Amino acid sequence: MCEATREILWASARGAVLKQNPGVALALRTGAGQATYHRFDPHRKHHLITYGAKMIAAKHQPETAQGWLSTREIQRRDYFGGEVSVVNLLAHTCCHEFAHLLQHSAGQRRYGSVHNQHFYVCLDKLHRTGAADATRTFLKDGALALGLLLPSAPFRFPHPGEECSPWQAGDLVLFGESKHEKRGQIIRVNRKTCTVAVHSPGRILRYRVPLHLLRCANTA
Ligand SMILES: [Zn+2]
Repeated sequence: MCEATREILWASARGAVLKQNPGVALALRTGAGQATYHRFDPHRKHHLITYGAKMIAAKHQPETAQGWLSTREIQRRDYFGGEVSVVNLLAHTCCHEFAHLLQHSAGQRRYGSVHNQHFYVCLDKLHRTGAADATRTFLKDGALALGLLLPSAPFRFPHPGEECSPWQAGDLVLFGESKHEKRGQIIRVNRKTCTVAVHSPGRILRYRVPLHLLRCANTA
């Protein structure tokens, strides 16, 4: 990620950054923890970007990747077609931190306003101009050369409210108590209910039954 930031992102922006702030340099390092950030050292005129090893580990599973801003940015801003995967997350993380460098360089990083409008102008541009794609390719090729696995399969996150429903259309179910108990067949699984068809003499009634009230007809 350090190399990708230097070879791809810094290489193409260096000229413009130096024009804004003559004499600045870029330092990149990996940290042992999760902390991942851009910082400007005014004395040494260094832009320092740190990538945390535990951040990289966290972005390898959907459960731990979910809490990171980079995951939400890919989804909400449709970066990489909105597809969250390990390689997309790591490439995007390089772009996110580099967008902070560009934001700072333009004098747009202000106290209490870090992920502001100008930050997203920088970040959008990195994705729009192909810099993000080039970063992704660089990481993929680099991992391949080192024999590292850098999965590109999209993560599947549970949607809010979409608890893994144990039911599927066709299941025979029971609901209701004692003499009101009804027996039917699930014809559709909805977000929080199932639509159940209940045969009664001469007609078919449809009920929308909350998931927790359904019982399996085969074992009840
Ligand atoms: Zn940030």
